[in-house]
Amino acid sequence: MTVAPHKRILVTGGAGFLGSHLCRALVERGHDVLCVDNLSTGSERNIAPLRALPNFRLLRHDVAMPFLVEADEIYNLACPASPRQYQTDPVQTTRTSVVGALNLLGLARRQGARILQASTSEVYGNPDVHPQPEDYCGRVDPIGPRACYDEGKRCAETLCMDHRRQYGLTVRIARIFNTYGPHMRPDDGRVVSNFIVQALAGSPISIYGDGSQTRSFCYVDDTVAALLRLMEAPGHVCGPVNVGNPEEVSMRALAETVRALTGSRSEIIHLAAVCDDPQRRRPDIGMAQRELDWSPQVGLREGLERTIEYFRGVLAEEGTG
Ligand code: NAD
Ligand code: UDP
Repeated sequence: MTVAPHKRILVTGGAGFLGSHLCRALVERGHDVLCVDNLSTGSERNIAPLRALPNFRLLRHDVAMPFLVEADEIYNLACPASPRQYQTDPVQTTRTSVVGALNLLGLARRQGARILQASTSEVYGNPDVHPQPEDYCGRVDPIGPRACYDEGKRCAETLCMDHRRQYGLTVRIARIFNTYGPHMRPDDGRVVSNFIVQALAGSPISIYGDGSQTRSFCYVDDTVAALLRLMEAPGHVCGPVNVGNPEEVSMRALAETVRALTGSRSEIIHLAAVCDDPQRRRPDIGMAQRELDWSPQVGLREGLERTIEYFRGVLAEEGTG
């Protein structure tokens, strides 16, 4: 039996929702993991169980400021992902994506490291092609309130591909679609956490607009599995690769499912529609299936049940459940 060598792995944004699950998976594989995070939307709580382990370290730092560490592989996840969070300081959001990517790509060049960039389905904007394949170039409003995130991520992709072409760097780009699960913040503002927290608290479940808009939700364990496979994939698999679960659902149906699964009697209310809200989103995951031999394993109901369990615990601890 051959044992995979332990690597020094840098995870930026490792104290966030997705990053903390990725750090755990890497630590469990025996790698030395350095998490670089400014804790703007992440939390020490997410990585608390890892802090005691000898192969995990946290460096509190803003990725938009240059830094030098040793790494064989880099996962660049640093960036707020919730529209509420990334629109709070939009200039910092763009700076994080663009200057952060430049810094991390520079670091990867110096270290001869492989780098995976967490991109997003938001690069497709409000799509007029459905479902979205990787060769669809998107329909993004460059000056709207979501542009700080969408255009920041698009530019990060550009920087990755140019580092590949210009310097021969080994890059990986994952276009992640809506992911949910434990470690989302109760006040994060994204739809799954909002609906679950509202339902558990017995307060109104807030649908923005008429609720006909759709998303395709992927459980966090599936997303992390895809990121690991993409990093390990053979050289020609650079991406961008869509990572998501094609199970598409309207926000109205999601609200009803969450209410049923929590046994809540919350009423479902409609608030004003959000500016530039994409109307539908579903990944074409043919490339991930072919190149990574990956498909999501956790269906929406099962994933929601696990996430509801998590939030029950968090709210009980906070005394608000
Ligand atoms: P999150 O907000 O929970 O985590 C982001 C992490 O990055 C946080 O820990 C935050 O403190 C850190 N961070 C933000 N700005 C930073 C900076 N300048 N320097 C250092 N650290 C910084 O979000 P998430 O859902 O875990 O998303 C992680 C990554 O995956 C993001 O890059 C996001 O764009 C991408 N992504 C996520 C989803 C999703 O549905 N969760 C979908 C598409 C893409
Ligand atoms: N949404 C909603 N109620 C909420 C939060 C979000 O109806 O309390 C809607 C939002 O308008 C969007 C969808 O849910 O249509 C997904 O929003 P989220 O912020 O989770 O992620 P996005 O995919 O928009 O980045």
